[in-house]
Amino acid sequence: MPRALVTGGAGFLGSHLCDRLLAEGMEVVVFDNLITGSTDNIAHLIDNPKFRFVRYDVTEYLYLDGAVDFVFHLASPASPMDFTTKAIQISKVNAMGTHKALGLARAKGAKFFLASTSEVYGDPLEHPQTEEYLGNVNPIGIRGVYDEAKRFAESITMAYHRSHDLDIKIVRIFNTYGPRMRLSDGRVVPNFIGQALRGEPITVYGDGSQTRSFCYCSDLVDGFLRLVLSDQTGPINIGNPTERTMLEFAEQIKSMTNSRSEIVFLPLLTADDPKQRRPDITKAQTLLGWEPKIALEEGLQRTISYFQTRL
Ligand code: UDP
Repeated sequence: MPRALVTGGAGFLGSHLCDRLLAEGMEVVVFDNLITGSTDNIAHLIDNPKFRFVRYDVTEYLYLDGAVDFVFHLASPASPMDFTTKAIQISKVNAMGTHKALGLARAKGAKFFLASTSEVYGDPLEHPQTEEYLGNVNPIGIRGVYDEAKRFAESITMAYHRSHDLDIKIVRIFNTYGPRMRLSDGRVVPNFIGQALRGEPITVYGDGSQTRSFCYCSDLVDGFLRLVLSDQTGPINIGNPTERTMLEFAEQIKSMTNSRSEIVFLPLLTADDPKQRRPDITKAQTLLGWEPKIALEEGLQRTISYFQTRL
C-alpha cells in the first residue's frame, strides 16, 4: 500500500487531500502544528487505521519510520491576514520546512509535491497568467513573506531535482474555496459568506475592481492527483479561470444567500493586493487532461451550506 506524508494535512486543502489519498487506497501520515489547521478537519479520519496525525512543526528536523512513497508539502498559513500576524512562521515553513520535507523525500526515495501559489506572479502585469510569466513581486511588501518564501520553495525544489534527481511536482494554486475554510480566516470567501449569513455589512476592500478566479476544492485536489501520477514536474497552474471582480463577487454572494446585508468599501488590507488574477490552464488541460468541473455557483452553494451549519 503506498504511503504518503502530508504536511499541513489538518488544514483546509490538506484535509481534502488526505480524504482523496485514503480513498485512492493510500496510507496517510499528517504532520501539522495546528497554527492555522484544526483537528476538526480530520476528526472523521482519526479512527481510520490507515491514517495517523502527528502534531509537529515541520520547520524542525523531520523523522518518520518506514517507507514513504509521496511527500506532499502543503504546510503554510495562506490567508493575507496571516501575512502580518504569522509573517515569520510563513517564511520559515516555506523555507526551512520545504528544505526538511525535501530532505525526507530524498532519504525515502519519495516523490515530492510542492504546493506553490499564484502569488509567485505577484501583482501580475500579464493576464491571464501562464507558467512562463516571471511575476511582479515586491520582496519587502506585506505579501513578500509569502510570495518570496514560495518562490524560494520552488527554487530549492528545482535544486533538489537537478542536484539529486529527486522526482518533484510543483503546482501553483490559484484561489480555492470550499467547506473547512476557517470562518475567521480573513479570505474573501469566508468573509463574504459569513457576513452575508449574519446580515453584517459585506466588506469589499478597495474599490472592488480587483479580480480573482475561484476553484472548488475537490477540483483542485483532482488536479494534484493528476500531476502526481503524471510524468510532469511542473510548475503547473491549477485553478478555475472563471473570473469575477470583488464587487461582482460580493453581489453574487449577497444574492445567493438572500441576504439584506449592505455592501461597504474598506481600505485594501495590503497595498500590493493583486489587481487581477486568472490562471491560464492550457498546460493542465493538455498535459494532465485536467479541467475544473464544479461551476462557481454550485461550489458556492455547497460552501454556503457548510458555513450555515457553523454559524
Ligand atoms: N477582499 C475583500 N473583502 C474581504 C476580503 C478580501 O474585498 O473581506 C478582497 C481582497 O482585497 C482581494 C480579494 O478579495 O482583492 C481576495 O482576497 P483573499 O484574502 O481571499 O486572497 P488573495 O487572493 O488576495 O490572496
